[in-house]
Amino acid sequence: MSTLTAQKNYSVVPGLNMGIFEPRDFAEILGIISKYEVPLTKITGAQRLALLGVDDDQMKSLQAELKPFIRETGKNTVTYVQACPGSQWCRYGKQDALALGKKLEKISFNEPFTAKVKVGISGCRMCCTEPYLRDVGLFGSNRGWTLVFGGNGGSHPRIGDVIAKNLTDDEALDLLQKCLTIYQQESRPTQRSARFMERFGIEELRKRLFEEQE
Ligand code: SF4
Repeated sequence: MSTLTAQKNYSVVPGLNMGIFEPRDFAEILGIISKYEVPLTKITGAQRLALLGVDDDQMKSLQAELKPFIRETGKNTVTYVQACPGSQWCRYGKQDALALGKKLEKISFNEPFTAKVKVGISGCRMCCTEPYLRDVGLFGSNRGWTLVFGGNGGSHPRIGDVIAKNLTDDEALDLLQKCLTIYQQESRPTQRSARFMERFGIEELRKRLFEEQE
């Protein structure tokens, strides 16, 4: 067993998005963690894997070995998606959170985001992934998805605004892309969606989303 060190390096393996591991990948990742005697391995609140306490020299080669498992998150995509097991795997699930999350991860926007865009998707109203506290939140009911925008946790928390209810997968993805495009166009540099919504306002956003298309 390795000893905890004072090193404060931090490495996240973003490829494990939505907290999903393929068993074969998991075995290989564990082998690498053991080889480097990583002092502390932790599942983060974002459903990713953090490797802590590795010194600078070792961190570079550790990251190189983990590269096949790392999903690079470009500036034109959302930062990460958290999703619960949803209707495929949870008895309470009403909508397939994992399937929607996979579709959302693949969307590439025309312009890069200048701040993080975190997404939480829950298969039912119990909201296990805290969608009201994410930049983009979705939760399912028997009638479809509810879309929430502009939430945030941290030291200045904000409950997101409900944009629309009873959406199909395609409607939810289409509407959230429109929300994020308006956010890209109108937000100040580095401004997260919560601060943007405090300034821009839900009425103006709804007007842009719904009225100007009629
Ligand atoms: S949000 Fe609902 S579907 Fe998802 S894990 Fe929680 S209880 Fe299950």
